[in-house]
Amino acid sequence: MTGAARRNGDPGQAALQLTLPFFAPPPPPAPTGPSIRIEGEVVGYWLRRTKRRTIGFTIDDRGLGVTIPRWVSKAETEAAIREKSRWIARQLARWREHSEQRARLATRWEDGGKVRLFGTDLVLALDAQARGVTLDGERIVVGMAPDAGPERLRNRVHGWLQEQARAYFASRVPVFSARLGKAPQRWSLSSARTRWGSCTRDGAIRLNWRLIHFRSDVIDYVIAHEIAHLRELNHGARFWATVSDLFPDFEKARAELRAASDTVAAD
Ligand SMILES: [Zn+2]
Repeated sequence: MTGAARRNGDPGQAALQLTLPFFAPPPPPAPTGPSIRIEGEVVGYWLRRTKRRTIGFTIDDRGLGVTIPRWVSKAETEAAIREKSRWIARQLARWREHSEQRARLATRWEDGGKVRLFGTDLVLALDAQARGVTLDGERIVVGMAPDAGPERLRNRVHGWLQEQARAYFASRVPVFSARLGKAPQRWSLSSARTRWGSCTRDGAIRLNWRLIHFRSDVIDYVIAHEIAHLRELNHGARFWATVSDLFPDFEKARAELRAASDTVAAD
């Protein structure tokens, strides 16, 4: 919970934010380049010439990038890669795992795709005869032709998830406000990529609709956290005591939110 108070002199803008980054979006594809066999595997890499005097390596989702001084030959480049081959192979494996994890978590926006709601994975069921979006046991039935296309399906389901989030927040904000004895001036949904919630100096609370993916106690912790900021606009000891008054089991939910942040797809 590293939300930092922004003190920029504008009380309307100063917000304490509950910062929890989602997976960053993948970088653009790398240009295609040569390849080399290292550690028993053919590895493609992309080259960038630089004015620097040394050979540098970058490894990310896109694979291996090599930055070389202008005068370095292909043989020298390959020798430098081989010298670092064990490290490169290890880093590439790490990134591959990261990408696979992200691919596993990403929703397939099609019939049979999975969407998590209140901590439970539900299955998308497209049905041209159905109306709107409805919950049917473990299925989210979407009134849409099965070949509607991922974009339309995602927009429709996101809209529905936002309605679910709004309804849940609307039922819980008054509960924690009553416990505190103070209500926010207003609250609204946010779709920020990097924070779960925020509270401004003038008592405006924003809650990320993507919280709807989590179990209700985790969502409650975030709501209690932001409501507690109405009294303590800081993250000091008195703030955490207030959170504890509002939601005694907060530490468990907080740990879960931290651990789970990487397991919620940001799509
Ligand atoms: Zn906070």
